[in-house]
Amino acid sequence: MIPRLHFAHLPTPIEELPRLSEALGGPRLLVKRDDQTGLAFGGNKTRKLEFLVAEAMEQGARTLISGGAIQSNHCRQTAAAAARFGFECILVLTGEMPPKPSANLLLDELFGAKIVHVPDRKDRDRILRETFERAAAEGKKPYLVPYGGSSPTGALGYAFAMEELMKQIKDFRSLRDFGSLDYIVFGTSSGGTHAGLVLGQRLFGFKGRVLGISIDESEEWLKSHVSRLASEASEKLGERIEFTPAEVLANADYCGAGYGVLTDAEREAVKLFAKYEGLLLDPVYTGRAAAGMIDLIRKGYFRKGETVLFWHTGGQPALFAEKYANKMI
Ligand SMILES: *Cc1c(COP(=O)(O)O)cnc(C)c1O
Repeated sequence: MIPRLHFAHLPTPIEELPRLSEALGGPRLLVKRDDQTGLAFGGNKTRKLEFLVAEAMEQGARTLISGGAIQSNHCRQTAAAAARFGFECILVLTGEMPPKPSANLLLDELFGAKIVHVPDRKDRDRILRETFERAAAEGKKPYLVPYGGSSPTGALGYAFAMEELMKQIKDFRSLRDFGSLDYIVFGTSSGGTHAGLVLGQRLFGFKGRVLGISIDESEEWLKSHVSRLASEASEKLGERIEFTPAEVLANADYCGAGYGVLTDAEREAVKLFAKYEGLLLDPVYTGRAAAGMIDLIRKGYFRKGETVLFWHTGGQPALFAEKYANKMI
């Protein structure tokens, strides 16, 4: 048995996006609300942390250490999980420190995480390693939560999310009435979500396609990293399944501006979802993934009668960081 805690609010709802779909003249659009997974405003890291925190407990850890950008959703949720389960938390955060903490960074502090600031991203791996070694030497029994929670253990969260989806689509009235689910579209970055979905697709027999829109990595890196992670995650379930880069579907056409850089495309996507569905995306991940999906709809990539599920991965607290809020409208 793989250790797992159960604190996510599951199953997350599936909703239709009829007004957005009509406005775009595109396929039928659904959304899977993993922005509603619970744990400090929710997001895709909750499902991973159910496995990661359980592993940390099993190893007798007392401190969770992780790293990410100043406005990392992953770090915010890791800090919340640490608080909830009685761990200390140290976060190694990269990028420009704002004069006052807001949004995810403010929440990190509320959860009592200790922040180690790394101005230059090129130093982050070294400082994360040193931070870990120091904590170990001080007897803090650290557990390293990898960037984005994307270890084979973390990826299991999304393998089981696919099982959850398969059960839901059997019962989802409009899918019963109108046919199958053809595509799952979502933002992919450190690859754990993507790897879990690809593994879950195989394990639970999902017939549609799993298309990751890259937030910041090349297609080549994603294909090789995601296939390796999916293979390694399968081993944890007892039997290794070998995934190849060629069977991972990734599109890196929308990340040219760089990580966390808000362009007209993300702004438009955030506004369209807000205006037509009253649904909030985030500026960094779901905004970019939705912008890619919208562009693909406009280019006729999906057929009119097809059904596309946008897997919402959360991240909305970043909307309130000055860095993004000042440029949103
Ligand atoms: C971390 C994150 C992602 C990317 O997930 P990975 O598993 O790292 O690829 C997507 N959306 C949001 C909101 C995130 O915080």
